[in-house]
Amino acid sequence: MFKLLSTANPKIQKGTKLGYLSFILHLAPADLSGREVCPKRTVGCTAACLNTAGRGGMFRKGETTNTIQRARIRKTQYFFDNREAFMADLVNDVLKAVRYARGKNLTPVFRLNGTSDLSWEKYNIADTGKNIFQLFPTVQFYDYTKVLGRKVAHLENYHLTFSKADGNDADVKKALTQGLSVVAVYDSIPEGVPSADETDLRFLDPKGIMLGLKAKGRAKKDYSGFVIRLQIV
Ligand code: SF4
Repeated sequence: MFKLLSTANPKIQKGTKLGYLSFILHLAPADLSGREVCPKRTVGCTAACLNTAGRGGMFRKGETTNTIQRARIRKTQYFFDNREAFMADLVNDVLKAVRYARGKNLTPVFRLNGTSDLSWEKYNIADTGKNIFQLFPTVQFYDYTKVLGRKVAHLENYHLTFSKADGNDADVKKALTQGLSVVAVYDSIPEGVPSADETDLRFLDPKGIMLGLKAKGRAKKDYSGFVIRLQIV
């Protein structure tokens, strides 16, 4: 039904209880497609990326890829090789998703960096002079990012949460002073830290707070400093 977007992520489905339906775009993270989509990635986050969480990380014995990974690579190459057609398909998917969600009495919301960290505000839709957020000003978009200083303050319908990783502590401090919330990945989320696993609806959070995510996929075995380890092993 959708060329680029999906709703398959279990955390995303949790939002439906609150009346929202999230649509997510998964590209191939880092430079897995041969093209870089994560300009501020770290050694730890690259190795432990959510790309390997859930079905995306299930491989047949002896294989290192699967249909999900191949689809993400194809989409990423499409974005770089035929940007105009990709953005047109994205617009069509957003239109379809809005109709689909409204048919279910849910509010559609969109996360375009499911497994990437692109500055979508920089990419205009052909013949419009507008980016995707400006083209759909009444639709809510949100993302996690490790890129500080993105020029999105004028985009009221695009919410960013900063993402802590190994070696970006200085950026975490700056993000908090800029009023952004920050999410960190833990082996076990400490008491008192709100869980970002409950829903993916970060635009509903108060501003400037620290949130915790539980390590998933390869992150469970991360000792790079990306995952904050509080449990004694
Ligand atoms: S964790 Fe984020 S920045 Fe790091 S490789 Fe994955 S998608 Fe890219």
